[in-house]
Amino acid sequence: MADSFDVIVIGGGPGGYAAAIRCAQKNANVALVEKAEMGGTCLNRGCIPSKALLGSAHFLTLAKHARLMGVDIEKPSPNWTKMQARKDAIVENFSKGVKTLVKANKIKLYEGIGIAKGPDTVTVQTDNEEVELKAKSIILATGSVPVEIPAFKFDRETIISSKEALNLSEIPESLVIIGGGIIGCEMACVYATVGSRVTIIEALDQLLPNEDAWVGKIMQREFKKLGIKCLTSQKVTGVDVNNDTAKVNLESGESIDADKVLVSVGRRAICDQETIEALGLEMQGSTIEINEKMETSVPGVYAIGDAVGTTYLAHGAFQEAEIAAENSLGGDEKMGDYNLIPKAVYSFPEVASIGLNEKKCTKKGIDFTVGKAAFRSNGRSVAHNETVGEIRVIRETDSNKILGVTMVGATVTEMISTARALIGTTEDITDVCFAHPTVSEVLKEAWEDAFGISLHV
Ligand code: FAD
Repeated sequence: MADSFDVIVIGGGPGGYAAAIRCAQKNANVALVEKAEMGGTCLNRGCIPSKALLGSAHFLTLAKHARLMGVDIEKPSPNWTKMQARKDAIVENFSKGVKTLVKANKIKLYEGIGIAKGPDTVTVQTDNEEVELKAKSIILATGSVPVEIPAFKFDRETIISSKEALNLSEIPESLVIIGGGIIGCEMACVYATVGSRVTIIEALDQLLPNEDAWVGKIMQREFKKLGIKCLTSQKVTGVDVNNDTAKVNLESGESIDADKVLVSVGRRAICDQETIEALGLEMQGSTIEINEKMETSVPGVYAIGDAVGTTYLAHGAFQEAEIAAENSLGGDEKMGDYNLIPKAVYSFPEVASIGLNEKKCTKKGIDFTVGKAAFRSNGRSVAHNETVGEIRVIRETDSNKILGVTMVGATVTEMISTARALIGTTEDITDVCFAHPTVSEVLKEAWEDAFGISLHV
């Protein structure tokens, strides 16, 4: 007899475990199927390990600058083995935490490969058995993998993905990073800080190409200070590997030698072919087609997270999980505006944005006014010696509506959620009192500047 549930969730990453917990909190009988590690990409080879290494690298940077702050420290240096061990311990702890949460919510965890055989049937294959599960609804949260380029496939030793880049046993003397997006920029900061000679090669004309040009300019200037060489508008044609060293060939005819080549050119959604065929899922390339209720083309089957290719962000997956969970239990929830899912890059300096930026407004033909404020004029930023960057706030000129905020600087990834609350408002915020001196006063200044009434800009 098949085990029966209200909902079966396939995939235990941020999308899957969040959907399972939310369903369970609503008293549903839930099965969660995970074939590898609970916590998925985010916890095991994404958000958390990358931030753990960035945390250590940040600490090292602070120590290197200690004298500027009137603190004498003997020459600080990275202990890579300890940094790696610290990162692994953090991952292990959170992994245990997710398993505990799943158990505490009385979710039945199946450790194996989950394949949907129909809209109410899933089989779980482990090494030695196959079990059949039945449910009223299925939520697919199968995630993504790094994009592989046929001309320079991963050999996992010299040509590596972010997964290997997070787990290198030694600091490479030289590292070429193909792709100047979020992952490329974050990894560049880690390795440049601990002493690698890092080169980023980006095909488009700026780092973080989805952000405005001014963001790319600041990043490139600051990365230069970190010793990172940035080659923009340059395409890689191939990588020759010989005796564990790589020669990265550029379209320009130039080539760069490197001990390791990290290819970080995006992620590709994945879902098992058997599931796609058995359900007859409508697909768009590798992503599962969904509507705003996270429903797939098959009634009773929902899909979320990287598998649907909407945000490729863990908090995007969390948000979609909420919607799918509600709807799988008979609700009628819709995903809101995807522009309001914040983007955060934990590089040195950090970058964060929400809503529309200047590029998007221009593309949409919106008449906008930009308010700006810089961290170098902020008391707290100066006190902390973190004066790089600025905040820009975009106001629709006619309606006064705030459309978006983009930030570059220390701790902006923490501030972006505050900015979210102000998007869509049409008022200036002179009557909102910000504590002084705080870094977030820069947000208020940029906001007021968008209305032409800033005190200090
Ligand atoms: P995943 O986390 O990929 O989880 C999918 C799970 O499904 C996996 O555990 C997989 O084993 C399982 N699975 C797949 N098929 C089956 C099957 N048939 N049966 C059973 N199990 C199956 N996002 C952020 O928001 N902030 C960040 O700072 C951030 N940093 C990142 C850094 C790096 C280096 C990388 C690579 C990614 C980062 N991301 C970040 C992105 C984030 O990790 C993903 O967006 C997020 O993990 C997506 O969640 P998901 O649940 O959709 O998929």
